[in-house]
Amino acid sequence: MAKARPPKRIVDTYTIKGTNKVIRAGDCVLMRPSESSKPPYVAKVEKIESDSRGHVKVEVRWYYRPEESIGGRRQFHGAKEVFLSDHYDVQSADTIEGKCTVHSFKSYTKLDAVGNEDFFCRFEYNSSTGAFNPDRVAVYCKCEMPYNPDDLMVQCEGCTDWFHPHCIDMTPEEAKRLEHFYCQSCSTEDQKKQNSSHNASRHPETKVDTKRRRR
Ligand SMILES: [Zn+2]
Ligand SMILES: [Zn+2]
Repeated sequence: MAKARPPKRIVDTYTIKGTNKVIRAGDCVLMRPSESSKPPYVAKVEKIESDSRGHVKVEVRWYYRPEESIGGRRQFHGAKEVFLSDHYDVQSADTIEGKCTVHSFKSYTKLDAVGNEDFFCRFEYNSSTGAFNPDRVAVYCKCEMPYNPDDLMVQCEGCTDWFHPHCIDMTPEEAKRLEHFYCQSCSTEDQKKQNSSHNASRHPETKVDTKRRRR
């Protein structure tokens, strides 16, 4: 920097312009993007500073949206998923549009309703290498995909794996009506035991009364 910086002092709070919403260090915020066609940036406020003229700047740690990551958006990424990056910045507090909440994956899946300001984070993201931490996550279903909390899944009562309705030839409506579900391999295993045909059941309700072998 060529210019000498004016003296700064750390302040505890910043009130978002035109609102009564108060931001503190540690809060997550939505910041106005440089292009108005883009969704707001998601960031965690690390520090709030005011210069001698009362101009407030915030030190932020960016959350990346899947489309902003090197690998791009993948099928298992949720609509409200963000990655906690190692990318820090100093921004004018004027660009803060509102507060938001970045939930853990678990608490996000337990929300009764997802509001505009609700996001979730399950990965940290290295913005220079594109690497994720953790670099592995559990996969589910026949398609072996990590869980996307936006997608309906049904759990097999035999193997406890989770399945997408479309991967088991079911409509989401059919899946929602299910009271019990056994996946094809659990049903088939059972049918082998019963010496019956290997007809895969598309109607799990007919299977409810059969005894399942515990793993
Ligand atoms: Zn699937
Ligand atoms: Zn199963």
